[in-house]
Amino acid sequence: MKCTWCQQLQIRNLTIAEILLPWNIQETRCAQCQEKLSLTATPCCTLCMKQGQLSPCDECQLWQQKYPAYSFTHHAFFQYNDAFHDWIYRYKFLGDYRLRKTFSKEISHFFKQHPKSIVCAIPLSSEWQIERGFNQSEALLSAANIPTFDLLKKSQHTPAQAQKNRQERLAMIQPFEATTLATTIQGKEVVIFDDVYTTGRTLFYAAETLMVFKPLKIRTLSLAR
Ligand SMILES: [Zn+2]
Ligand SMILES: [Zn+2]
Repeated sequence: MKCTWCQQLQIRNLTIAEILLPWNIQETRCAQCQEKLSLTATPCCTLCMKQGQLSPCDECQLWQQKYPAYSFTHHAFFQYNDAFHDWIYRYKFLGDYRLRKTFSKEISHFFKQHPKSIVCAIPLSSEWQIERGFNQSEALLSAANIPTFDLLKKSQHTPAQAQKNRQERLAMIQPFEATTLATTIQGKEVVIFDDVYTTGRTLFYAAETLMVFKPLKIRTLSLAR
């Protein structure tokens, strides 16, 4: 089968579960691609998983001051290293749609631990959606068979975050509005998913928009931090 990242053919032994239930055969990354990634590890901030930090990190302390009523917990699978940067460049900026499957294993594992969550991907403005052809976060969830709910819509077109420095990213104004579906999240657990956690600005705005509907818990998730 093909590696879900480099697309090279790889030969690997199937697990017993895959031999018995072949429809469960999971496409995976090859050993070389696997080695390029670094899992998030301790020590890290227990709130945002920023690596090598005491908890809460300086950034999270500022977020706590800004959103005292929001008990924030973020999970990220990987550290944002050079290899992850190359992956996101290929997936998001070159639009290589095949790469939506690269992290399906991690995503489906996470949602097995949070099976009752209502999952929402960070929306794109319609301009970006047209330019790229797909919402990169939604495509990652859908490749892992995670159903999503459009709880948010983007009310305005904002330039790509990647072109901005940290201060510019933090200065972004609230870009989201809740959709009518958001009224159904009262008392439920919600997971908001974005491909990367950089400053947290996008995810906090998304959470702020949904908080007013009184969900039981809002978790945030990204591939990398
Ligand atoms: Zn590979
Ligand atoms: Zn933190």
